[in-house]
Amino acid sequence: PKRVFSGVQPTGNLHLGNYLGAISRFVPLQDEMPSIYCVVDMHAITVWQDPAELTRATREVTAAYLAAGIDPKKAIIFNQSQVKEHAELAWIFNCVARMGWLSRMTQFKEKAGKNRENASVGLFAYPALMAADILAYRATHVPVGDDQKQHLELTRDIAQKFNNDFQDRIKELGLGVPNPEPSPETPDELFFPVTEPMIAGPATRIMSLRDGTKKMSKSDPSDLSRINLTDDTDTIARKFKKAKTDPEPLPGEIEGLEARPEADNLVGIYAALSGVTKADVLKEYGGQQFSTFKPALSELAVEKLSPIAAEMRNLIADPAHIDAVLKDGAERAAAIAEPILHDVKRIAGFLECR
Ligand code: ATP
Ligand code: MG
Repeated sequence: PKRVFSGVQPTGNLHLGNYLGAISRFVPLQDEMPSIYCVVDMHAITVWQDPAELTRATREVTAAYLAAGIDPKKAIIFNQSQVKEHAELAWIFNCVARMGWLSRMTQFKEKAGKNRENASVGLFAYPALMAADILAYRATHVPVGDDQKQHLELTRDIAQKFNNDFQDRIKELGLGVPNPEPSPETPDELFFPVTEPMIAGPATRIMSLRDGTKKMSKSDPSDLSRINLTDDTDTIARKFKKAKTDPEPLPGEIEGLEARPEADNLVGIYAALSGVTKADVLKEYGGQQFSTFKPALSELAVEKLSPIAAEMRNLIADPAHIDAVLKDGAERAAAIAEPILHDVKRIAGFLECR
């Protein structure tokens, strides 16, 4: 059976990249298959978070999910720390994943920076927790931005190693399903599905407005590097105006965007916001200067984002409602994850004595 799982960290200001690369893509999926959207607060603390700020940001991400159009009656919305199965499965996966696999993760290298000795152990183990988030629900489809591709490959490796290591036990307990793609390297029966990454569309990697080679991030110290979902009209216009570009006018064809990362990024943002291709955008704006294109882009961004920001403000004004949505979601999520973890523990051989 198909199931969607994805998450966003409550680590600060949600931005256009989070919206276009992740949250906006969650909305149509809720009508296609059972969907679970998590506010991953346990991931957030892999780098220091002020506790009061973490609580505030958890409600803000929930408000963004709701304001973007996720319906809590259809999809499950909850915060990770309230379903203990995430942490339990993450520990087991820490013992399945290999040091070598995690050492190759570029997100760890980037976030740990030069002072790796001082990074938290949690930051290193982040991808094993992410695998647990997904597989605690045996989710099959994971919509994310391009930066999470490597972590999803690791999730597949962890699922595969678990299925292999415990193959005899999975069969003995009758807990497997036939492998839909049998091969000499893979076992006949799977306990965990091999997850499908969903990384598609024109906005899988929105870049920083200050540096076309770096992705737009919540954790970038420069606020000018990103458009926050809650920025007002003037701020959005000012940030696009200040966005780094080259002096050339826009090209008429997409090939002309190669080696022009900043221009490519702004055209991609326009395309994603208006639901057309980059080629379509260039048909309209090819030959024009940024002094013409940037105000048009600002206007489009304001048109798309301001209703969401307004709805987020309404929702945040009523924290009791947000907390009730999260509570209901956590109960529904736990009802799915508990029996799966029960089976995982039996497979591992943990003695059940209560
Ligand atoms: P942080 O800097 O704290 O890691 P972040 O901006 O990367 O924050 P996350 O909460 O880590 O945000 O990611 C949430 C989702 O948004 C993920 O699916 C991620 O792939 C996606 N995402 C993050 N940044 C971008 C971006 N620049 N373009 C497209 N998608 C993005
Ligand atoms: Mg991130």
